[in-house]
Amino acid sequence: MDNMRKIEVPFPSCSHLYDEVPIGKYKILVTAYNDFDLPRPKINQSYFLSSEWINFLQPIEVFGKPIDTVSSYPRLISNPAIMVHWPDYGVLTYKQIDWLVNKIIVDLECGLVVETGCTEGHGRTGTLLACLAGKLLGLSATEAIQHIRKVYCMFAVEKESQIELIAEYLQSPIPSPADVHTHEFRYYR
Ligand SMILES: [Zn+2]
Repeated sequence: MDNMRKIEVPFPSCSHLYDEVPIGKYKILVTAYNDFDLPRPKINQSYFLSSEWINFLQPIEVFGKPIDTVSSYPRLISNPAIMVHWPDYGVLTYKQIDWLVNKIIVDLECGLVVETGCTEGHGRTGTLLACLAGKLLGLSATEAIQHIRKVYCMFAVEKESQIELIAEYLQSPIPSPADVHTHEFRYYR
């Protein structure tokens, strides 16, 4: 942490609970773990990007072996959910984000109600939404990030490495700081 440069971190004061985020002709629900509440709307498939969510899921199996989750939490989420191992302040590989985006697009094309979320719903969630929007709408990385900040939340996409992943995924030039390093951008190296 010592060599991490941190510049201007206004803490987001927003909350995200089953927010409907339009992406082209589709929409995807976003729920932040910190804002999670019941009752839940009808959801066919969730993609949770932070490990905290596992506390609220029904027991799940990976390759036939049940994951032993913390038993003291109520298992409040019963719809199908995929836990994505995406550490906070980390990024997925190209192959991982490609799998995730394509899986979600297939779900949306099938008419499923899809939900995603991480802890606050900004960094990891914003990165996934930008990749989805870029692919579905044919946007550059700059356009995709700006689009998601407009239709979802101004705090979406938090880190330089997340911006770089979006650019790599969309085979697009890395956005110029003037276009994406806005006052709400939380800048870590
Ligand atoms: Zn927000």
